[in-house]
Amino acid sequence: SILVEQADPEIFAAIQAENLRQEQHIELIASENYASPAVMWAQGTQLTNKYAEGYPGKRYYGGCEFVDIAEKLAIDRIKQIFGADAANVQPHCGASANEAVFLAFLKPGDTIMGMSLAEGGHLTHGMPLNMSGKWFNVVSYGLDKNEAIDYDAMEAKAREHKPKLIVAGASAYSLHIDFERFAKIAKEVGAIFMVDMAHYAGLIAAGVYPNPVPHADIVTSTTHKSLRGPRGGIILMKAEHEKAINSAIFPGLQGGPLMHVIAAKAVAFKEAMAPEFKAYQQQVVTNARIVAETLTERGLRIVSGGTQSHVMLVDLRAKGITGKEAEAVLGSAHMTINKNAIPNDPEKPMVTSGVRIGTPAMTTRGFKDAEARATAHLVADVLDNPRDEANIAAVREKVHALTSRFPVYK
Ligand code: PLP
Repeated sequence: SILVEQADPEIFAAIQAENLRQEQHIELIASENYASPAVMWAQGTQLTNKYAEGYPGKRYYGGCEFVDIAEKLAIDRIKQIFGADAANVQPHCGASANEAVFLAFLKPGDTIMGMSLAEGGHLTHGMPLNMSGKWFNVVSYGLDKNEAIDYDAMEAKAREHKPKLIVAGASAYSLHIDFERFAKIAKEVGAIFMVDMAHYAGLIAAGVYPNPVPHADIVTSTTHKSLRGPRGGIILMKAEHEKAINSAIFPGLQGGPLMHVIAAKAVAFKEAMAPEFKAYQQQVVTNARIVAETLTERGLRIVSGGTQSHVMLVDLRAKGITGKEAEAVLGSAHMTINKNAIPNDPEKPMVTSGVRIGTPAMTTRGFKDAEARATAHLVADVLDNPRDEANIAAVREKVHALTSRFPVYK
């Protein structure tokens, strides 16, 4: 760090400020986590210097013998964790993993089916401004009156529109997804069945959320959310799809893989195979349940009636506050969340009536049942009096008292 301080004091100052923010604030963004020092070290190594277009043993550059070891380890470990036939660990991020699947199997104008963004899906699953929405004819499914996935309606739409590809997976859906049911309908209508497990990957690795791998043709994921690796993507697949997916990633979509990130992915996958990772993920789910129950006791409504995972959507309307304002005032109290539309949200997407809360990050820093409950009370304390500066300052003090007992990077 001394080198960065001398070479670039402005960037050094920004990094220092961000480090302090991550230590002091309670991180409640459901898609974020704290990667381990070992993961971050691997990502900061000389492997960043290496070009390795191609795949282990079949590269377009010399000198790849050592990065080949790293990539093979990453592939073998991720296959073992999820029970996959084959894996590609080169996607730079979750979005490019998804794009590669579309590139492998679809032509512009083909029909795809995914969960609507407004009801919990991800923008790469067919949102109009995303490549997936611009290039493909999108049929969306959503939620039923209980705010669970409307499987009957999804099946009816699949039969009517015969999509070439069906995506299951979400960014803001707290319940288990019935992957088996999706797979059945995909088979019936002749669709490729893809699961984007980005949010749930860590939970699935630990066996605390249903594993889509036995049911899906292709499973994509990010590596930096609940899986707690470096920022990046992966694709798992049945053996018969390996060739198509590999050539869609390279040379289809990407150039040189990020070998330093792939090495860091391998380190994270090793961590995910350890018994402590299972205990961690069990606590993630327990903490989410406690936060949801506590917020309910404090008069807030949890969308879908609660959570079976690491994430929940909170309906703020009972408190007379929008998602936008809640994000700002909770931020002032040093609790970081994101505003999120709730089903049938009356507010615009930049305003919303909800917030999304997740527990992977707080659990990594060591929060257990008592701290999860305390955090939920602090959130409710802010939302009960969101325009009272003294209240926000008092909560901020309590947040710092809590976070100082649980340093992230010791
Ligand atoms: N898929 C899902 C379900 C996500 O929630 C996200 C990220 O929010 C992505 C894909 C995209 O990942 P990335 O931001 O790495 O492109």
